[in-house]
Amino acid sequence: MTLEQILEKTQNVRLVVASKYVDASVIEKLFMQGLVEFGENQVQALAQKKEILKEKNLKWHFIGTLQSNKINLLIKQKPLLWQSCNGLKIAKAMDKRLGFKLDTLLEINGANEDSKSGLEPNKALEEYLQIQEECLNLNLCGVMSIGSHSQDEKKIIKSFENTFKIYQTLQRYGAKICSMGMSNDFELAIKCGSNMVRLGSILFKNLK
Ligand SMILES: *Cc1c(COP(=O)(O)O)cnc(C)c1O
Repeated sequence: MTLEQILEKTQNVRLVVASKYVDASVIEKLFMQGLVEFGENQVQALAQKKEILKEKNLKWHFIGTLQSNKINLLIKQKPLLWQSCNGLKIAKAMDKRLGFKLDTLLEINGANEDSKSGLEPNKALEEYLQIQEECLNLNLCGVMSIGSHSQDEKKIIKSFENTFKIYQTLQRYGAKICSMGMSNDFELAIKCGSNMVRLGSILFKNLK
C-alpha cells in the first residue's frame, strides 16, 4: 500500500504513526508529508526523539506499557495522549505525580489473550469509572486496544467488537476515542468502529 492509499483509507479516523521502529530522521520525513501525531512505546525513546525534533510541531502519544520508574520522565514529556493506562494502580501512581491534566485512554485486552497488555474486558467499565472518580489529574477520553494476534479474521473482529462495545457504554461517561487497529488489521478495526489507528510497519515499508 502506498502512503496515499493508507491516507485515503484512514481519512475518517485519526492516524497515529507508531514510530518505534525508526529514528528521528524518518519521523521527520513523515512529518514533512503531513503526518503530525506520533506514538512511542518506550518513554526513553519518546524523550530522545521529541528532543531531537523539538523545533517541529509534532504531537506525541505514549502507547507502550508504562513502568512505574518511568512515570516522571513521561510526565516531563507532556504527551498529547497517554493511550496505555492499563488499570487503576498505574493510573493512581501517575495521578499522584501529575501537575496538569493528562488526556488518557484505558487500554483493554479486547482479545482476552494472556500474552496481551491491557485490562480484562470484564473489569473495564468499573475501573474506568473508578479512575475517573479518583484520579482527577487524568482526563479519561476513551479506550485503546491491540487486536487479537490470531490469524483467524473472525477472532480479530471479535476482539475489536469487544472493545467497541465497552467504548459504546463509556460514551455515556464522556468517552470519545476508540483507538484500535495496527498495520495488519486497521481496515477491520475501522469497520468495527475505531476512530484512531496506530500504524507502524506499513508506513515505513514504502518509505525509502
Ligand atoms: C508498534 C505498535 C503499533 C504499530 O504496529 P504495526 O503492526 O507496526 O503497525 C501499534 N500500537 C502499539 C501499542 C504498538 O506498540
